[in-house]
Amino acid sequence: NQQEVLVVGSANQDIVVRVDRLPKLGETILGEDVVYLPGGKGLNQACACGATGTRTHFLGAVGADGSGTQLLAAMRERGVDVDLTPSLDEVATGTAHILVSANGGNQIVVVPAANSQVSEVQVQQAFAALPDPRVLVLQGEIPFATSLAAAELMGARGGRTVFNLAPAAEVPERLLALADPLVVNEFEAGLILGVTPPSSRAEAAERARELLARSRSVIITLGAQGSVVADQEGTEEIAPTEVAEVVDTTGAGDAFVGVLAAELCHGQDLREAARRASLAAAQSVTRPGASQSYGAIEALYREA
Ligand code: ATP
Repeated sequence: NQQEVLVVGSANQDIVVRVDRLPKLGETILGEDVVYLPGGKGLNQACACGATGTRTHFLGAVGADGSGTQLLAAMRERGVDVDLTPSLDEVATGTAHILVSANGGNQIVVVPAANSQVSEVQVQQAFAALPDPRVLVLQGEIPFATSLAAAELMGARGGRTVFNLAPAAEVPERLLALADPLVVNEFEAGLILGVTPPSSRAEAAERARELLARSRSVIITLGAQGSVVADQEGTEEIAPTEVAEVVDTTGAGDAFVGVLAAELCHGQDLREAARRASLAAAQSVTRPGASQSYGAIEALYREA
C-alpha cells in the first residue's frame, strides 16, 4: 500500500459571531463582529494530517460558491489534495452558524448542505483512481452509508480505518466493527454506551474495554486529562503533554485524529501513534482556532 491517507468527510464554513448575550426567542440583537473560518471535522482532520507532511487526500463535497472555494484553498494550504472533492452546483457549502456570548455560552446551527451529498459513487470512483491508500479516516458528519462503503472498500484493500464517531450518533454496527481504532471523546463514549461520561483515565480505560466488544481497537480522548488506548494487547493510559499556556482547545480532537492517521500511515503501532498524536494535539491548543492552529503541527514535524 502507498503511504497515503484518505479522509472522507465534511467541510464547513464556520461563521462565528461574537455577541454580548445570546438572543431570546423572537429577539433581534446586534453582533460585535463576525469571522469566517474553515471548519468541519473532515476538513480539520485532513489539514492536521497534511500538516505532518503526509500525503493526504480529502474526499467530500462543497457548493460552487465563495465558501466552497475558500475551504478548498484552506486545505491546499496545508498540502491536502482536494481533487476528489467536487464543487456542486445545486447545493450550498455546509455552514456552521456559531454565536459566542461574552460569558462563554454558545449556540450553534449546522447546515450540512453539500456534506449530505457525499456519495458512495464518489467513494467507488476514488478507490478506482487512487493507488491503495494505507489509512482511511472517517467521522460522523456525512451519510453513514457513504462512510460504510469507504470502510468496506478499505478493508478489502487491506488498509486501516480510523473512525472518529463525532458527533455521537446511532451508527451501523458493521462500521464500528471495521474501525481500527474507533476514536471518541469522553462524552461520545458515554452516549454510545448509554452511561455517564468517564471522569478519569482509569474510568475511561474501563469504558474503552467495553467498546472493544464492538471495535478492533478504541481510543478515548479526555481533553487536558490525556487519552486511553485499548486493543487486544491491553489498555494503556496516555498522560497529556503539559503546555505552557492553553490558548484555544477548539480542534484539539481533530488534530489528534489527523496526526494519529499520519503516524499509522508511516507504520507506527497504535500506542506510539497515539502518543505522538497527543503531543501534536497539545501543540495545537497553544494557538487560536481549529485548522488555523495547525501551523503548530507543521512546526513540530519540520523540527523532527
Ligand atoms: P474538540 O471537540 O475541541 O476538537 P475533543 O473533545 O474531540 O475536542 P479532546 O479530548 O478535548 O477532544 O482533545 C483531544 C486530545 O488533545 C486530548 O486527548 C489531548 O491529547 C489533547 N489536548 C486537549 N486539550 C489539551 C490541553 N489542555 N492540554 C494538553 N493536551 C490537550
